[in-house]
Amino acid sequence: MTFETLGLSPALLRALADTGYTTPTPIQAQSIPAGLEGRDILGAAQTGTGKTAAFGLPLLQRLARETPPRGPRKPRALVLVPTRELAVQVADSLKEYGRHLRLNVTMIFGGVGMQPQIDNLRRGVDILVACPGRLLDHLDSGHAKLDAIELLVLDEADRMLDMGFLPSIKRVLARVPKQRQTMLFSATFEPRIRALAMELLDRPVEVQVAAQNTIAETIVHRVHPVDSARKRDLLVDILAARHGDRVLVFGRTKHGCNRLAEQLGQAGLPSVAIHGNKSQAQRQKALDAFKAGRARILVATDVAARGLDIPDLPLVINHDLPMVAEDYVHRIGRTGRNGAQGEAVSLVAPEEGGLLRDIQRMLKADITMETVTGFEPSQPLRMDAKPVQGRGGRGGGQKPGGQRKAGNRGHGKPAPRGAATHAGPKQHRGGGRRRRSA
Ligand code: AMP
Repeated sequence: MTFETLGLSPALLRALADTGYTTPTPIQAQSIPAGLEGRDILGAAQTGTGKTAAFGLPLLQRLARETPPRGPRKPRALVLVPTRELAVQVADSLKEYGRHLRLNVTMIFGGVGMQPQIDNLRRGVDILVACPGRLLDHLDSGHAKLDAIELLVLDEADRMLDMGFLPSIKRVLARVPKQRQTMLFSATFEPRIRALAMELLDRPVEVQVAAQNTIAETIVHRVHPVDSARKRDLLVDILAARHGDRVLVFGRTKHGCNRLAEQLGQAGLPSVAIHGNKSQAQRQKALDAFKAGRARILVATDVAARGLDIPDLPLVINHDLPMVAEDYVHRIGRTGRNGAQGEAVSLVAPEEGGLLRDIQRMLKADITMETVTGFEPSQPLRMDAKPVQGRGGRGGGQKPGGQRKAGNRGHGKPAPRGAATHAGPKQHRGGGRRRRSA
């Protein structure tokens, strides 16, 4: 399955290649053809499944069929989202996927001044990504007009209902033309979502992806607490102990991955790296070398987490935990496929404890901790701390001031268990081995 076979336009295919997507996710494979046909869609998919592109690509392609008139224009697509963070994320994704189209994406959310948003609305908008409350303010003051909307998306509808937005949504929708295409995405098809769908959608195509956030039983995964400064040495130890095995190593940033690959090379462990800054051809070449066994170690950002099917991959190592909890499942899901046994280890520094906490909340389980002798961290993991990410390895990266899709978007449910307990020192099986010099 490729994006080409889904019927996407060359401009979108080019943008997807730029972004580093090679294979549609299941929700994309199901939604894109129906969306392109103009069908209404009812989708059950959580963040992390690729749902933004599932509705975003058909939306962009349908809008781009007509050349927008010059000068100020009214929005033709409206994406309603529950939070400012999601607005930023969705708008960023739409801009990224639509980079070769001339469509304007504008955000509307509360907690910031009205005037810049009014100015943006005046300048003309093709796609409006908005939180319902603030959008209503702009509608009431006459600055926003929704009478030209052709496409409507409700993203994370269940969360919008949780947050009490139903009356606002209804008021907004009263201003949107009845003749339109509507796509509604929610984590589940619970009764209140079905009821909303009945009201808003016309003979929708239902798309659903299997429950995410579960780890195959064939995968044994654990955490090694270690100081940041010692991660590389521990990684070298583990890799050296697993000579002969193919290993996928995840880093957080493009720059970090490059540096890591370089350092591994200096330690006598040659590797190839793939991330968003490499061209599609370079990435393919690295991947081919890894798959064919010419390179034993692949260092990658999350761009590589999805869609990769690497046969015979016994070990995944997270040199850094992902910023987005759901990505943990995608990353370690590269091993233990098709019934094979797999192993995943994560090197977690004290200041990354908060990322581990998010992952454990999402999994509703603690991950076994093993301190490796000789690599004991100088302090316990700080379960309330997260690293600050500058430019990330996943397209947009972490936005300052906005938490990007952390795993604790668990619809407000408290963690079933508290912070992880330290399992105490244990001997890692590679722990006592000689470390190669750097
Ligand atoms: P979403 O569920 O839309 O928030 O997407 C989750 C993450 O998956 C985002 O970081 C996307 O950039 C990424 N993503 C979406 N579709 C694909 C794909 N087909 N291949 C690789 N990554 C993807």
